[in-house]
Amino acid sequence: MTLHPPTRLSNATGVITVDLAAISGNWRALAQRVAPAQCGAVVKADAYGLGAARVIPALVRAGCTAFFIATPSEAETARTFAPKATIYALDGLLGGGEAFAAFNVTPVLSTLDDVTEWQAIAKAANTRLPAALHIDTGLNRLGLPSRDTRKLAADAALLANIDLKLVMSHLASADNPADKKNRDQLLAFETLTALFPRVPRSLAASDGLMLGPQYHFNLVRPGYALYGGQAAQSNPAPVSTVVTVAARVLSVCDVARGETVGYSATWRAARPSRIATIAAGYADGVPRSASGPDGRPGGHVMIGGTLAPIVGRVSMDLITADVTDLGSEAVKPGDFAKLIGDGLTIEDAGYSAGTIGYEILTRLGPRFARLYVE
Ligand SMILES: *Cc1c(COP(=O)(O)O)cnc(C)c1O
Repeated sequence: MTLHPPTRLSNATGVITVDLAAISGNWRALAQRVAPAQCGAVVKADAYGLGAARVIPALVRAGCTAFFIATPSEAETARTFAPKATIYALDGLLGGGEAFAAFNVTPVLSTLDDVTEWQAIAKAANTRLPAALHIDTGLNRLGLPSRDTRKLAADAALLANIDLKLVMSHLASADNPADKKNRDQLLAFETLTALFPRVPRSLAASDGLMLGPQYHFNLVRPGYALYGGQAAQSNPAPVSTVVTVAARVLSVCDVARGETVGYSATWRAARPSRIATIAAGYADGVPRSASGPDGRPGGHVMIGGTLAPIVGRVSMDLITADVTDLGSEAVKPGDFAKLIGDGLTIEDAGYSAGTIGYEILTRLGPRFARLYVE
């Protein structure tokens, strides 16, 4: 996944710190929470941008034996770093059936065509191959519609040569425990999975597992919570912070009242102001929509424990923050400003940019140095 030469810490414009011990601790806390159900780990998208090559081995050491990825290339990476684990590929075969078979990866089949193709691969190899079935219960995204689910259950020949390891579905509104849709999907899941007696079941991801034990079934599939994410603020998962992001302050300058800052001159100083220019921009994963104030409040950075608002447009490599209230000695070139950390959460960064923490996490800058703490 490395598209850029690894950045050295000494001259890095920004540093992403990933606490692998916290990821392991979060997995253990969730595993304890859902026992006797099994706790897997979703490590798709390069472990939510944090580095699958470091995250997967840490989770293996913590005791995780079931991993979920999305694509064939992610499957290969996961197999490399978790040689003995069960690896589920969420996005189906994608023409990667032969590769999945070769890497002993269990595809999550979500169309009848996928089922037919996987069966043909098994037959040609004169063997039975493992698979999971993804059934739709109301998300209407990926998953067999109930008509196709019933068809498979009614005709054993359709699943011949397939060793069904798991039946799963995915919740649409688990981040809102009060939403009636959760119960509706739970009931649909129970009804449809009754057609496959004795096959292990999985319904819940990070937020779903917090809805209670009736959502746990045999296996839960958290991703975001492992990385310290808290999408359901009303029902927080028992996890701690994993990621901090800091970027270098390049300059601090005084701006007279009435002057503007940044492209399109969207911010005008209402008082004599001090502006810190920081080496992080949209190319580093700071959304341009974090520009503020401009209709929405805009994002913040944390300097020496104090919040400073981002003012003016976020550009490709730079942001500008109003540090007038921080005191004249509080910030100087070469210092680091936190984009995430010291109480500024991934959720805060997402909310102030009109998006969610998941998007912030998975887009953290490839130009920044990564520091892994064990
Ligand atoms: C991404 C994904 C998950 C993990 O979701 P989180 O909210 O990150 O815990 C689980 N199941 C499916 C089907 C997914 O696509």
